[in-house]
Amino acid sequence: MRAAVLWGPGKNFEVQEIQIASPAAGEVSVDLHSCGVCASDLSLTTAFGQPTPVVLGHEGAGIVAEVGVGVDSVKVGDHVVLVWVPPCGTCVPCRRGDDYLCANRRSSADARAGKAARPSPLSVDGTSIHQGMATSTFAQRTVVPGNAVVKIDADVPFPVAAMMGCAVPTGVGAALRSARVQPGDNVAVIGCGAVGLNAVMGAVVAGAARVIAIDPMESRRALALTVGASESAAPEDLDDLHDLDVVIDAVGAPATVASAWKAVRRGGTVTVVGAGRPNQVVEINAYELFHDDKKITGSFHGGISMHRDLPMLVGLWRNGRLPIEKLIDSTADLTKINEAIEAQQSGEALRVVLTPQP
Ligand SMILES: [Zn+2]
Ligand SMILES: [Zn+2]
Repeated sequence: MRAAVLWGPGKNFEVQEIQIASPAAGEVSVDLHSCGVCASDLSLTTAFGQPTPVVLGHEGAGIVAEVGVGVDSVKVGDHVVLVWVPPCGTCVPCRRGDDYLCANRRSSADARAGKAARPSPLSVDGTSIHQGMATSTFAQRTVVPGNAVVKIDADVPFPVAAMMGCAVPTGVGAALRSARVQPGDNVAVIGCGAVGLNAVMGAVVAGAARVIAIDPMESRRALALTVGASESAAPEDLDDLHDLDVVIDAVGAPATVASAWKAVRRGGTVTVVGAGRPNQVVEINAYELFHDDKKITGSFHGGISMHRDLPMLVGLWRNGRLPIEKLIDSTADLTKINEAIEAQQSGEALRVVLTPQP
């Protein structure tokens, strides 16, 4: 089968034939019909130490091709979305319903050390290839544990279903679950990539009054207005924003967290959903922290449990509350992955969804 292999940090992807094992007991194989390149795929090898060679990709949707012994949650032919935090179902976070925080997920430290929860099913001519985020969706097929897929209605188009694997739950969940936006809230979202724009849509779903979309790119600010933002602003205008109820930071750099902190009202909430780097430190004035009674929260996977919440996201999409199609510029064959990334990074496109099947 074909896959986009990254042979070293910062290199271009090489789309080539590789070998994939059949699913072992407890695993399933999925023929991937759509996959999206998320910004974190690109920083995994350069900033987070993911070893190479690797097949990356954690946004993906497709059709179950084979089911290993003992898997009864899905069957061959089911349409599924890949889940990059497969919940074990038995640890303390899983049992209290926070399965996106599963204590038995593969941690980023494990990935850095090249440790996998299970042997990679991918290889080329006898050389083992890492499975990025244990999902490796930049390929025609992947093999994952049975709990790393969740069934989705067959009428949801694959490009939309793929985005429901990361950008949608992460962004929408940041607004609904992590920031707990309330009806009438005044909200700003810093960074209008795919996650930030989904946070804009999530704030609208929650009933926010003002939703201010902030991004340096004019094209991204314009797109934000089409998915429900009430106004947009450039980052330099952030200093003029005060007394907001919620600021969602989809960048996660120390400077954007500091701007968000200044822009929220006393008692307001800053939610950081952008992935900061392991060596970055955010400084917050201790007196303000006490006196201004502001809340600052992280947001991992938007606080969304895929097995519980995917039907909610599909329902919102089905009824026009999440216009996810507006975030998809085009689809392209997997062989166009390097061009798709270039278009996304330059701002020419927001999401080019790749279609690995022939
Ligand atoms: Zn667990
Ligand atoms: Zn992602």
